[in-house]
Amino acid sequence: MSKLIDGKKIASTVLDRVAQDVKDLGQSGHEVALAVIVVGDDPASRVYVNHKKKDCAQVGIISLEYALPADTEQAALMALITQLNERKDINGILCQLPIPKHLDEKAVLSAIAPEKDVDAFHPVNVGHIMLGDCLLLPCTPAGIMEMLHSEEVEITGKHCVVIGRSNIVGKPMAMLMLKENATVTICHSKTVDLPAISRQADILIAAVGRAKFVTADMVKQGAVIIGVGMNRDENGKLCGDVDFAAVEPKASLITPVPGGVGPMTRAMLLQNTIIAAKMQNKIK
Ligand code: NAP
Repeated sequence: MSKLIDGKKIASTVLDRVAQDVKDLGQSGHEVALAVIVVGDDPASRVYVNHKKKDCAQVGIISLEYALPADTEQAALMALITQLNERKDINGILCQLPIPKHLDEKAVLSAIAPEKDVDAFHPVNVGHIMLGDCLLLPCTPAGIMEMLHSEEVEITGKHCVVIGRSNIVGKPMAMLMLKENATVTICHSKTVDLPAISRQADILIAAVGRAKFVTADMVKQGAVIIGVGMNRDENGKLCGDVDFAAVEPKASLITPVPGGVGPMTRAMLLQNTIIAAKMQNKIK
């Protein structure tokens, strides 16, 4: 059995499911549309937004891009969000991060209607994650759960160590694992003797943003290893938060970079758009 968790393959199954949902919704008279707001000309954001448009086209979701200049004022951005919130023909709204520093990111994310918040960054959706009754989940943690389920990884009773406590990956990831009965430890930059903790992990999820941060001595034999970060190594080569070559021999399952968590994050955005469309049209 391969140790590699093939994110591309699992994501393509999600995309097939989404494409079928888009068809079914279309047949009952509901087109599905996603609005993407991008402020400024950050090159990485451009790449991500182009990916989103391509993914939407692949599954039949209408994508609408709202490209605003870098000097856009807060009021103009808020007015656009209000307008998109009110439009019945738009099911999902996201604002590509980062936004220019003069804008209030918290206010922007809180302005998106929770039922259209396909990134699940709105405080209401964050609250639902805490309560364990959420419908819209942040895309990266949701994608990781989908991978673990697809690989039939046993979660109940297992020790899951999450390295990273960001609002978009680490914290919601920990809550989703807790919901599925894992015993969860969250580590961060102030954690003392992190290797001693990570060595206890049955499931180790690294969302750090540092090339090859997780080394072989930090991993228990047979652990499931999920690497979220996408970094460049000393030679400029794309690599993850996990030292793949050194850790792979000890792992029972491991994600590659690229082709691991990345494609899952992209696929879950489209799944969220379907969930939002169904919610808004009261379709189960
Ligand atoms: P982030 O907001 O920068 O958070 C990084 C976390 O890592 C923080 O909680 C930080 O701790 C912790 N950390 C940093 N250095 C550490 C150290 N030496 N020891 C222990 N913990 C340390 O990043 P993020 O948004 O969670 O994303 C993490 C990485 O995943 C980034 O590289 C990002 O680009 C990538 N990413 C990939 C995908 C994908 O689809 N593949 C999706 C989202 C993000 P403190 O809180 O103490 O500072």
